[in-house]
Amino acid sequence: MPPNGWVLSGPHPLVPQITQRRCYDTRVPVDVLRGVVMMKAATKKRLARYWGYILVIILYFGWFEIHLDPVVLVSMSSLVVVYCLFQAPVPCCALTRRYGYCRNNAIGLLRGCHLEAHKWQNLRLLVKQQAWAQVGRGVFHSVSGNAAALSALAGIVSASAAAITLVAH
Ligand SMILES: [Zn+2]
Repeated sequence: MPPNGWVLSGPHPLVPQITQRRCYDTRVPVDVLRGVVMMKAATKKRLARYWGYILVIILYFGWFEIHLDPVVLVSMSSLVVVYCLFQAPVPCCALTRRYGYCRNNAIGLLRGCHLEAHKWQNLRLLVKQQAWAQVGRGVFHSVSGNAAALSALAGIVSASAAAITLVAH
């Protein structure tokens, strides 16, 4: 017998809450999982686009924190340079007569955009040495161009330093 006139008929007042919480609890991990899957796809995309910059950060730690092997440093630095010159997402930055610098997307500092006249324009200008200043102005006038150019410079310095270390030891 229940004491003090408790009524046992009907659902316990806590039962609906518990079942509700259970429903909620099973839904949350599903949502989180789905979010992780989505984020992973986006992160993968970002990784594919920006791996060179991540490598720059690793390179920094490789030099100053964990003292990696010079051979590893040389190869990582070379990869950074290749990435900046041929794969980093930057604006084309070719000098156009009407609109100033071309704003089309380019992959890599040297490759230029899809326009035939802009393809490899920076590379062609670099071959003619008197045009280096023009390339510099074009590249350094955009933020991502700055990032790519500075990373390329850092990569070159790092590769040379690691190569010297290799030879010296
Ligand atoms: Zn262009």
